[in-house]
Amino acid sequence: MRDLRVEYLTPTGPVCAVDGVSFDIGKGEVLGLAGESGSGKSTVAQALLRILRPPAVITGGQVLFEGEDILDMSEARLRELRWRKVSLVFQSAMNSLNPILTVGEQIVDAILAHQQVKRSEAVDRAVSLLKLVGIDSARLTSYPHQLSGGMRQRVVIAIALALEPPLMLMDEPTTALDVVVQKEILHQVAELKNKLGFSILFITHDLSLILEFSTRIAVLYAGKLVEMAPSRQLYDSPRHPYTQGLLGSVPSVRGPRRKLVGIPGSPPDMRKLPAGCRFHPRCPSATSRCKEDVPLLRELGPGHIEACHLNSP
Ligand code: SF4
Repeated sequence: MRDLRVEYLTPTGPVCAVDGVSFDIGKGEVLGLAGESGSGKSTVAQALLRILRPPAVITGGQVLFEGEDILDMSEARLRELRWRKVSLVFQSAMNSLNPILTVGEQIVDAILAHQQVKRSEAVDRAVSLLKLVGIDSARLTSYPHQLSGGMRQRVVIAIALALEPPLMLMDEPTTALDVVVQKEILHQVAELKNKLGFSILFITHDLSLILEFSTRIAVLYAGKLVEMAPSRQLYDSPRHPYTQGLLGSVPSVRGPRRKLVGIPGSPPDMRKLPAGCRFHPRCPSATSRCKEDVPLLRELGPGHIEACHLNSP
């Protein structure tokens, strides 16, 4: 993704939801996209697949996938790309699945919609996909309401893997589930990723999950990328005050007990963004410069970039 810009065209004027976001995702890599609600995480994922609904419009940038710019693709080419090359797992499995079709029919439908194979072959594939995500093939004839929340989300993941796409977007894939099931599912996805070699863009507001599951993490604040680094490095030495604030509010089960510190205030109204650094009204280290100058992204070390005046000359 290069310099992506997305605006919402509202009656009172355009509202910029994603402002110049750039990143790469390598083969077999999990890139975590972190940030509070409204930071633009889901908009980035939806722009990547060009499934944003009006009034959202992509007003700039490039999304290069295997050398082709998704933003320039025809509708026919896009249909070939979606699901076959890039699939998407949404937050709520109950809303993604059709309540009046069995899960088997839904997996078979996804396969037949994108590939010319015999129905019997698609059914066989559905059986192996269910097994792949740890569900007994007898469940093929179950309706979504007959499955637990965790099983439903596994079915959605099975559908996303149906055509073995090289990239899977996961938008808050386990938010509606309890922590034990969350962990089980993410471990399973990590095993599948290692086995099948696909890449993941993993979106969540839960920093503890993202730290455990991602290779690298990109932190968004009010539509801008503020820091990106390998996960371990970000955890050990976060440099941006916003990242530090996010990490400061994650409890640790090991190490000395410490007081958790939240980030004061709330994310800005995107219609009236603060001048200078967008984080300045909430930042404990803000100076007068922060209220006027927009901090630019700089490289702090290998693979570690960040936008804050504290770390710039
Ligand atoms: Fe805080 Fe200033 Fe850095 Fe923004 S630029 S994060 S306000 S210190």
